[in-house]
This record gives sequence, structure tokens and C-alpha cells, in this order.
Amino acid sequence: MAVVNVPIRPERDTHLGGENPFESMMARFDIAAQKLNLEPGLYGVLRHPEKQIIVACPVLRDSGQVEVFTGYRVLYNTARGPAKGGIRYDMGVTLDEVKALAAWMTWKCAVVNLPFGGAKGGILCDPSTMSMIELERLTRRYTSGIIDTLGPDSDVPAPDVNTNERMMAWIMDTYSMHKRHTVTAVVTGKPVAMGGSLGRREATGRGCMIVTRQALRQLNLPIDKSTRVAVQGFGNVGSISAKLMSDLGLRIVAVSDKDGGVYAKNGLDVDAAIAYVAKNKTLKGFPGGDRITNSELLTLDCDVLVPAALENVITDENAGDIKAKVICEGANGPTSATADQILQDKGILVIPDILANAGGVTVSYFEWVQDRGGYFWDEETVNTRLERIMVESFAEVAGMAARHGVSMRIAAYMVAIDRVAQVHRLRGMYA
Ligand code: GLU
Repeated sequence: MAVVNVPIRPERDTHLGGENPFESMMARFDIAAQKLNLEPGLYGVLRHPEKQIIVACPVLRDSGQVEVFTGYRVLYNTARGPAKGGIRYDMGVTLDEVKALAAWMTWKCAVVNLPFGGAKGGILCDPSTMSMIELERLTRRYTSGIIDTLGPDSDVPAPDVNTNERMMAWIMDTYSMHKRHTVTAVVTGKPVAMGGSLGRREATGRGCMIVTRQALRQLNLPIDKSTRVAVQGFGNVGSISAKLMSDLGLRIVAVSDKDGGVYAKNGLDVDAAIAYVAKNKTLKGFPGGDRITNSELLTLDCDVLVPAALENVITDENAGDIKAKVICEGANGPTSATADQILQDKGILVIPDILANAGGVTVSYFEWVQDRGGYFWDEETVNTRLERIMVESFAEVAGMAARHGVSMRIAAYMVAIDRVAQVHRLRGMYA
């Protein structure tokens, strides 16, 4: 059996925009911490991840060779409850990225007031080149590598970029085999047939639609076909956001995936685009409009922009050209810290990632509650409770922004950091 070592990639600073994701998170954290007059001791605690795990994951490839992949899991903060956050499979994964995403999960769970801390995981791999059985081996090996920290009371993963219900089922099974009994609540985003929640798959996109609707109302913009939406990314978040915003009555003028985008001035048929991608795995060749590039999509003449792909796509290089009045951050970290000020100066209302895409983890929380209670809710109950949390959280962040004269982003960090800090103060320091 030949062992092939995958070359360790040097720590990448960025995906696209030239900013280290952890520094980009900290830049906003610093502003919010200052506004809150956060005491230096707590500032120190909150700028350090609690635990960082790196595991080597040897996988038997179908070729008969063994390839060693690197996996990460970062538990950023668990003051408010078990660590919560997805796992991504991507060639852009670095420890710094996972740290930033774990911190964002901490703030995200706090913004919507879930009793969770924050975590994130990632494996540096290209899943598009792997067979289903290779992905299963990789997922199980990674799970066993991080099993000491996993558990319904300690760390609860979920899907993220390039992972889905199938992988969550393997994680649940691997963990349960080790525990010698079935533990559904160890992971969320599972298939409904094995303890998943109705509405979980659509939850992130549904949350994006709800906060966008609230933002349009706040700005007195119409909720009808005159409001034009461009969506970057057509995975779980982008496609469902487009679908639900279209159902709300808005006009979707552009969508894109990693192979580029499609634009139609008079509106796209989102259902047809979803059906096309289900069949062809890409939007490329979709006949409903004209081809555009991903960077053209960001600066299109539209009213609402939904970046729902990866980090750092809106930077100081293109922020000045953005024409949308509202940006709903479906992705985590799509805007670089240097672009924030430009967007604010232009008067664009940015619904920040930690609020905009919190619908996913909110229904993950519902799933965890249902698993632990052994009693499952109907979809209407899930959606009604999600609606309430998103509407209330939007109002809380908007209220903080108005009171302190800050952007929605800084306001969201302030709400979140304040909640986490308050729990630290109450718990005191174990020494
Ligand atoms: N990966 C999603 C996120 O970034 C969901 C996390 C979860 O449900 O735990 O919010």
C-alpha cells in the first residue's frame, strides 16, 4: 500500500481579497469591544480560541493509495453552551480561516441568543475529485480524530461549504458506534429520517429572506417585482435565498456559482435554475439569461445583493462600485474589513453575516432540542419559531445600531460580545 503525502499548503492569508480572515474578524471585534468598554481581561479571553485541534486523516483512495488529509476543529468559546458550527471541505481551508469561522459562530449564536458557543471544522481537500466512498472514509476518520471533544453537551457539528446531510449521517453513525448507542444530538443538519429537523435544509436561506424583508421595510423599499436581487453562490444558501426571495415577490435578476453567473433584466426563473443545477451540477449553460462573471454580478445595477458563496469577495477594490441598497450576507465573511467603511459611506445597509445567515444554526438548535427531547415538531412550528427569532434579532441589532450610531455589523458584534461577556462575568474565573 503506497502512502502519498498531500503537500501541506502554506497558510493562505485569503481566498480572494488579500485579508487574513482572523484579522478581518478581529478588526470588527476591536471596534465593538471599544464601544462596549470591554474590560482588558475579558478582551484577552475573547480574542483567543479555547481549543484548536489538527488531525491527520489518512484515507484509502479508490486507486489503492493512501492519502493523508489535514483536518481542523476549533472550539472558539463555550461560555454560553456547547460549541456549535459546521464543517467544510474545501481547498481554501486553513487554520486561520477555521479560527475566524469559529469566532463568527460564537458571535452568531449569541446574536440570535442561542444557548451555544461557537466552533468550526474544516478539511483541506477537493471533494469534487473524491468518490462517495472516499468521502465516507474521510468523514469517518476525521470524526474519530476529533471524537474526544464531540458530543451533544460539548461540540455539535453541522454542514457547511461542500458538506451535507449525508456526511452528517456518517458523523452521527461513527460517533454512535464508538459510544455503543445511538446519539442523534451529536450533529445537526441530519436527514429527517434519522433525527433531522423539518425546515433545516431551507433554514439559512429562509433566514436571509426574512432579514432582507425586514431591511426593505425599514428603508421603505417596495416588496414587489420592482426590487431587483442578485445572488452570488447557488449552493444551499444561495439557491434557497433566491427561491424564497422570489416567492416573497422580489425579482431575481442574477444568480451565479463557481463557474460564473447568469443575468436577466426581467427576472430569472429560479425554479428552472434549481432544476437545471440538480441535473447538470452547474449553472453553466442555463438558458434563462445572459452570461456574466462573478465579479460583474457583485457590481450589477440591483437593489439587493446576496453574497452567498465564500469569504472576502467584497473588498476595497470593488466596494466603491456596488450599486445595491441592501447587502444580505448569506456567506460567512464575504466583506473584508477594509470594505466596511466604503459601504457605510455609500449608505448601503449591510445585514452582517452573523445575523443574516443565522437561520441555519437557529434551526440546528431546534434540531438539537428535538433530538434531546425525542419529540419532533411540524414544519410550520419550525418556520414560525425561526421567523420570530430572526425578526426579533434584526430589531435588536437595528436598535443597537441606532442607539450608538454604528453600522449593523458593529451593532451585531456589540450585541453578541455583550452577551458572551456577561456570561463570563457571571461565571467568574476558574483558577
Ligand atoms: N454552517 C452553518 C453556519 O455557518 C450552520 C452551522 C450550524 O448549524 O451549526 O452558520
